[in-house]
Amino acid sequence: MLIAFEGIDGAGKTSQARLLADWLESEGSLVVISHEPTNGPWGTKLRESASSGRSAPEEELDLFLKDRKQHVEELIQPSLNKGVTVILDRYYFSNMAYQGARGLNPSRIREVNEAFAPVPDFLFILDLEVDLALQRIGSRGDIANEFEKRDALQDCRDIFNTLENEAFAHIIDASKSLDEVHSMIREILSGGTRP
Ligand code: C5P
Ligand code: MG
Repeated sequence: MLIAFEGIDGAGKTSQARLLADWLESEGSLVVISHEPTNGPWGTKLRESASSGRSAPEEELDLFLKDRKQHVEELIQPSLNKGVTVILDRYYFSNMAYQGARGLNPSRIREVNEAFAPVPDFLFILDLEVDLALQRIGSRGDIANEFEKRDALQDCRDIFNTLENEAFAHIIDASKSLDEVHSMIREILSGGTRP
């Protein structure tokens, strides 16, 4: 089973991925938790360029695709083949959102990814107001940067939310506490009603 967590910065993806992995393991499942960009060569390059100056959106997307191809081939697909549950902290929907916010076409980004990357069984989109997200991650930098970041995150949030009608996607109110969000996710995975 493939489970992906998505959402803007500060939504709580990393914490929820961890809580879910712990719960599934306690229920006896074999679980591997991973994140994108990865710690592989392409992912490292992406992180470096995030601090030293970002490349053009197309080039950036190209690096993400190389990183993801390696991730799928070396970790995601082999784990799924062994029956291990894979939990991802960001996946290709982040490309739709973040590189979409930089002007690329989200539908095309989705297509190029789904040509090689498995579609998740469950996609949890942790949805949060941008102002709350910025509060959570702490505002830093100058005011102009803050405005730019707010606009970009708003675009990302809007793009994530375009996925709401996909059968595998679940939009979760991430303004709730860690425990409440975790419970909603457990309920959905246990086949309970969608909140
Ligand atoms: O998941 P994490 O918080 O480590 O992501 C780090 C940063 O990478 C995010 O703040 C986001 O701005 C950026 N990012 C991006 N495009 C993606 C995924 C992440 O610009 N596809
Ligand atoms: Mg995180």
